[in-house]
Amino acid sequence: MYQALYRKYRPQTFDEVVGQLGVTQTLKTQLRTGRLSHAYLFTGSRGTGKTSCAKILAKAVNCLNPQDGNPCNTCAACRSIDAGSCMDVLEIDAASNNGVDNVRDLRDDAIYTPSEVQRRVYIIDEVHMLSISAFNALLKIIEEPPEHLIFILATTELHKVPATILSRCQRFSFRRISPEDVATRLQYVASQEHISLEPQAAMVLARMADGALRDGVSLLDQCASATPGPVTPEAVYQCLGLAGEQKAAELMAAIAGKHTRQALELFDQLYASGKDVSALLDELCALARDLLVLKTAPKAGLSMLSGVSTQEEAVSLRDRLSTGELIRILKTLQQTAAGFTRGGKNRLDGELCLIRLCEPALSLEPEAINARLTRLEEALASGARLHQAAPQAPEEEGPPLPDDREAPPEISEEEAVPQDAPVGFWTDLAARVRGELVPPVSGFFTSTPDAPVQGALRNGCLELQCVNSFVHDTVNKPEILQRIAQCASGMLGHPVRVLAVDLQAKPKTGENLQALLEFGKKHSDIMKVKN
Ligand SMILES: [Zn+2]
Repeated sequence: MYQALYRKYRPQTFDEVVGQLGVTQTLKTQLRTGRLSHAYLFTGSRGTGKTSCAKILAKAVNCLNPQDGNPCNTCAACRSIDAGSCMDVLEIDAASNNGVDNVRDLRDDAIYTPSEVQRRVYIIDEVHMLSISAFNALLKIIEEPPEHLIFILATTELHKVPATILSRCQRFSFRRISPEDVATRLQYVASQEHISLEPQAAMVLARMADGALRDGVSLLDQCASATPGPVTPEAVYQCLGLAGEQKAAELMAAIAGKHTRQALELFDQLYASGKDVSALLDELCALARDLLVLKTAPKAGLSMLSGVSTQEEAVSLRDRLSTGELIRILKTLQQTAAGFTRGGKNRLDGELCLIRLCEPALSLEPEAINARLTRLEEALASGARLHQAAPQAPEEEGPPLPDDREAPPEISEEEAVPQDAPVGFWTDLAARVRGELVPPVSGFFTSTPDAPVQGALRNGCLELQCVNSFVHDTVNKPEILQRIAQCASGMLGHPVRVLAVDLQAKPKTGENLQALLEFGKKHSDIMKVKN
């Protein structure tokens, strides 16, 4: 008989539990030292390993041959608990046995010493579903538990468990499992099952699982059995009926590129294939919201992304849209969706909405103008200032002079346009740096055009252009530059060198240069200046 993958790969020891190191280590220590509690409460969202850990704990306390806190899974006790035939280890689903009678039965049985194993273990799943009288009956046993009894209560809704119960339990919180951890585990399961799972497909599944490993494994199961070949991201979308959702990212890319025709053609295809217009706008909204989060919290944002697109797509979209543009897109989408009526001309409204999104220049609404303005400001902040700041080159060309080595290299117009800075880079970096540093330095980092410090990124080097020597001297300290470099590297994903430049000092080097050139002209017999 086919065994579902999530059952087959359910962890059998604490070491196999994914992403709950804090919980499993504490439990193992308790088991090794014999300092066990009589009542445990496992809380956390679904699929995070609460029931699995409860079962492992039930085995571990009864195992005849425990291995460093883990159950051996081979002795008679372990095997009978695994098979569900051990009368002393009981798993109760409170959702279906929530009455006071069920708990009274438990209480009557609880006083007897276990017949097969050392300790009687009651696992009560979804304990918050118990009625109040059932909770009161439970409280009576937990208050004075017999020596041989252990309760393991599990719940997804901690706030529904009475305080009297909470205060008598040792509480363990199970975290949502990170997409990376889920993806790693999925790859392991796939390799054991000889399923060819592409890394990107594993990430898509992991994001859809939303922190629940069990859901991730079930989704893999579903996709692998429906797909004849390797499991690719496309196969995942296809199999889970999300083919349309993937198109949301394509539409967003068309909007970012202002390709009106492409957007309308895509929309037409989706409409023809039966896609609901308001559902499509919802998906675009979700994606725009994810991209906004990704802009403000680059690291955390990736794990928050709903499964509408791959990580690479999301990052490339994020870099192509400014914050102002994303807000405008969200507003336009929401306004359009709010105007939808049942059986109305939703198609026309949807098309008009896309045209407005692709061609912001058509709109005179404040959001549209603001979006264009922020784009300009960000472009300015990330490099355009160099035009104004670059020193006047001397009329006559000469060899590099020794005095000039401190001054930053001159920048030609082409170079001044930052090639590797994503849109909004400086705005985002300034906001982060502001949070990292203390006043007064932190106050210099604002994204306004007249801020005391402006950043320009060129060839992996971030130039901090300081408006005067006071600002320059305050900023130009190793620990500050290093902190800024860390922030910038974190955002760009590659090392960044940071250099502070005093804009006021620049003309001075020009004067020196001029003086030296004059000197050279006068003494052309001893020093060759002209080529
Ligand atoms: Zn054992």
